[in-house]
Amino acid sequence: MSIRRLPSELINRIAAGEVVERPASALKELIENSLDAGAKSVAIRLSAGGLELVEVTDDGSGMSPAEMKLALERHATSKLPDDAIENVASFGFRGEALPSIASVARLTLESRERGADGWRIELDHGQLLGEGPAALPPGTRVRVEGLFDKVPARRKFLRSPRAEYAACVDAVKRLAMARPDVAFSLDHDGRRSLSVQPSDGPARVAALLSHELDRHGIGIDCVRDGLRLTGVISLPTFNRGMADQQFLFVNSRPVKDRLLVGSLRAAYRDLLARDRHPVAALFVEVPAGEVDINVHPAKTEVRFRDPAAVRGLIIGGLKAALDEAGHRSAAREQFAQPAAWQVEPSTPVQPIASFFEAAAASPAAVMDRPAPFAAPMGRAEEARPVPAEQASYPLGVARGQVAATYIVAEAEDGLVIVDQHAAHERLVLERMRKASNGGVVARQALLIPDVVELEEPDCDRLEGAILDLAALGLEIERFGPTAMLVRATPAPLGKTDVGGLLGDVAAELAELGTALSLRDRLDHVAATMACHGSVRAGRILSVAEMNALLREMEVTPHSGQCNHGRPTWVKLAHADIEKLFGRR
Ligand code: ADP
Ligand code: MG
Repeated sequence: MSIRRLPSELINRIAAGEVVERPASALKELIENSLDAGAKSVAIRLSAGGLELVEVTDDGSGMSPAEMKLALERHATSKLPDDAIENVASFGFRGEALPSIASVARLTLESRERGADGWRIELDHGQLLGEGPAALPPGTRVRVEGLFDKVPARRKFLRSPRAEYAACVDAVKRLAMARPDVAFSLDHDGRRSLSVQPSDGPARVAALLSHELDRHGIGIDCVRDGLRLTGVISLPTFNRGMADQQFLFVNSRPVKDRLLVGSLRAAYRDLLARDRHPVAALFVEVPAGEVDINVHPAKTEVRFRDPAAVRGLIIGGLKAALDEAGHRSAAREQFAQPAAWQVEPSTPVQPIASFFEAAAASPAAVMDRPAPFAAPMGRAEEARPVPAEQASYPLGVARGQVAATYIVAEAEDGLVIVDQHAAHERLVLERMRKASNGGVVARQALLIPDVVELEEPDCDRLEGAILDLAALGLEIERFGPTAMLVRATPAPLGKTDVGGLLGDVAAELAELGTALSLRDRLDHVAATMACHGSVRAGRILSVAEMNALLREMEVTPHSGQCNHGRPTWVKLAHADIEKLFGRR
């Protein structure tokens, strides 16, 4: 075996594999360099999603010809004056982007310092092609052409120009949000696709995020343990099938850190289905010594000295904001036709009865009534005038049930349709929350304790949480290495599938780990439990039950959306009904 030093060109190629994997990553490095050079304006040009051309022009400090040469050498950087990596405020500091990009493309570097002449250096895959004077305004222009053209192994991994372009836009947006004080423009194949002027942070975010967030966003600003969190998040009902509109920053540096992404997810856990994602732009500010940014070549991941504090800040801050905004809902947008579906009760009223107490007292009677086979799918109440005292209920008076799934109610100002399963699941969760806030959730003892077989680690987790679960009304004991004995279940759930409940709670405990506070953990577990206690779609409800459900919804926070972020009810105003029939 012979050991040899790698030639620098090969080292650059290897580094390019880490730093530059696609046009967007080269673009990101170039923009970061412009920002580090103090640019107030950054102009970007792309062709074919950056596969043919990535060009970044800035009005920053510029470089002398000698500095330009140095900049193209590996590990040459102007950004670590005192070798203190912990305190670095610039985006770059590793001194490898330019040489790496130059090793896998044709690169033209033009630069001009103020009061000096411009200079140009051209390289082809690391080899000097030529250099000479250049005419350009003060600043720097870097042009990258034919990225990976001669590196087939890399080329293979590139996607369509369209997909590469999308990744470039994403990179530009992230940096533009990080630096609202800088102007950015982006041209793709000769067309202007983005342009923002210097502004403040919120205005920049608003300009670059979905405009819908004007109406469906919640502003965030909170401080905890010396950490600060600001930004905007979407209402749960305004969600997406992909997590592509989540912009996260640590000390103004865009990151895709797993801890932050996971915390964002966790904050929405009981408000969104697992395959739906919120829109968010969140800025975390921590003291410089609390975070290490040098753990990833592209610097998209960071390491916090106290990850639990950051997680707590995000989950706590977002949940508080979501709670406060709980009465708003974006359901209206999900029903394009007709335009004016109304989604929120405006005035809370007192409940007249609680269907849930009834359910808890005699679960069998309420939960087990089967839907009659081949029965007509709709049912209506006899025509009776609405008693005056009931006329003003925001969700109206139940008039019938459709498909054994939807409650149809008549309100003073329109027709209300409620998804009974979604609504009930939400109500059960809020009841469990309320009960556990005040102390202990009532429990429903099983006549014969149930033995549930589970994997040993699941049993261990459940055993470790016995006291917490008891507070939620779930009474269990260890029953040998791979089984648990269930003595009582939370009363608000009514009759429930005990095995499924325990399995889900164990899975939830496994996923949550110990990062969350006890309060937050219990809340997630309560949400998991709530799914097991819900009135299923397909169950026939009596009028009294339907009305009880409506009254309960009117006084329950968050009742406008189910635990998965879908609306639980919609209202068709009289005016809309008239429009449907052409009366207006
Ligand atoms: P790093 O950014 O980690 O220092 P780079 O390879 O990206 O490494 O850049 C090397 C050096 O080139 C930088 O430290 C900086 O001095 C100089 N440089 C690169 N781009 C520009 C620019 N747009 N304007 C001024 N100087 C630049
Ligand atoms: Mg750099």
